[in-house]
Amino acid sequence: MNVSEPLTLGVMGGGQLGRMFVHAAQSMGYFTAVLDPDANSPAGLVSHYHIQTAYTDPEGLKQLAACSVAITIEFENVPAPALRELAKHRPVSPGAEAVAIAQDRMAEKAHFAKCGVACAPYASIESADQLEAASLQNLLPGILKTARMGYDGKGQVRVKDAHALRQAWQDLKQVPCVLEKMLPLALECSVIVARGQDGQMVNFPVQRNLHREGILAVTEVYEGHLPAALQRQAIASARAIADGVNYVGVLCVEFFVLQDGSMVVNEMAPRPHNSGHYTLDACDQSQFDLQVRTLAGLPLTQPRQHSAAIMLNLLGDVWFDDQSKMRTPDWAAVLALPGTHLHLYGKTQARKARKMGHLNVTGASISEVRQVALKAAAILGIEAF
Ligand code: ATP
Ligand code: MG
Repeated sequence: MNVSEPLTLGVMGGGQLGRMFVHAAQSMGYFTAVLDPDANSPAGLVSHYHIQTAYTDPEGLKQLAACSVAITIEFENVPAPALRELAKHRPVSPGAEAVAIAQDRMAEKAHFAKCGVACAPYASIESADQLEAASLQNLLPGILKTARMGYDGKGQVRVKDAHALRQAWQDLKQVPCVLEKMLPLALECSVIVARGQDGQMVNFPVQRNLHREGILAVTEVYEGHLPAALQRQAIASARAIADGVNYVGVLCVEFFVLQDGSMVVNEMAPRPHNSGHYTLDACDQSQFDLQVRTLAGLPLTQPRQHSAAIMLNLLGDVWFDDQSKMRTPDWAAVLALPGTHLHLYGKTQARKARKMGHLNVTGASISEVRQVALKAAAILGIEAF
């Protein structure tokens, strides 16, 4: 008997998240199609089909829709008209509405409020009058963030007073922004949920995240890493945020825990997330497996973490020594340590602050895992945590 032709799953964007989605889809027997303008995109390099056009190119979108049974995204700034066009022909998840919310910090904060989840005190700044009013609202010191297109701390300026705020808005070319009060953080965490077409939802454990210079550096997940009440609150909030927009797909919600123990939501990502990469090696299903299931309309079962885990992000910095000279990191020394799992994204150019890969460390106990992770960090020149 002949097995029928494999179905193709499509993805808008060819970065590392798309690459890991492609790997998961292929391991379940699907073909994949990636639309990305870059000939060397990490996902395009490993996909069955790579449609190499601009995200809004009508011909490219037509090709993607023609070959795919369903289409997802791997970065949130996919132009909304492109998603709407695709959605005329094929199921697209997450839907354009959820993606539009995540693309705009003002819409995002309004959505959080609608779902009953508190965020940091903030003001919208779209005019000089709003700028002056905001400087009187007890939001300083604060962080001025562009409403759209920010990631990895880009498009953000920390401002201590009204003068700095005015200067920062000038520097950001007076585009629409939000001014957020700088909060006294005790720690940061995130939750990843997957929600199916029927509204059924599952979640991963809460991740504890360390950021350096606005970029995720380390994620830790193990028994007892966060108070149980905080974990319950984070999971309930993430689920409410997903339900509130009838979300379909994998969603990550980031939170701040303040020094007084209270928690506020930071932002959401309508896709798998860097803080969920530990699921590749520490859980019985990864966040990318669940992305495949939600896209293909397959059942969801609650994932189980089987190992304590620490993930180290491998930024381009690791490819430079103390004298800023290029080097190849000593992977053999890292891989000689037990429980290390190296993931590299196939990027040919290392630049400082560029996400090049990540290292998952897993083990039976967190003390073991931490010891190994600290050794690996020392070998790679990553600051201890
Ligand atoms: P991402 O890559 O997660 O999309 P981003 O560029 O959207 O990042 P944010 O998540 O808004 O940036 O902020 C990056 C980091 O800056 C946060 O993880 C946190 O460490 C710090 N930060 C942001 N907003 C605040 C705040 N209001 N108070 C204190 N620290 C903050
Ligand atoms: Mg963030």
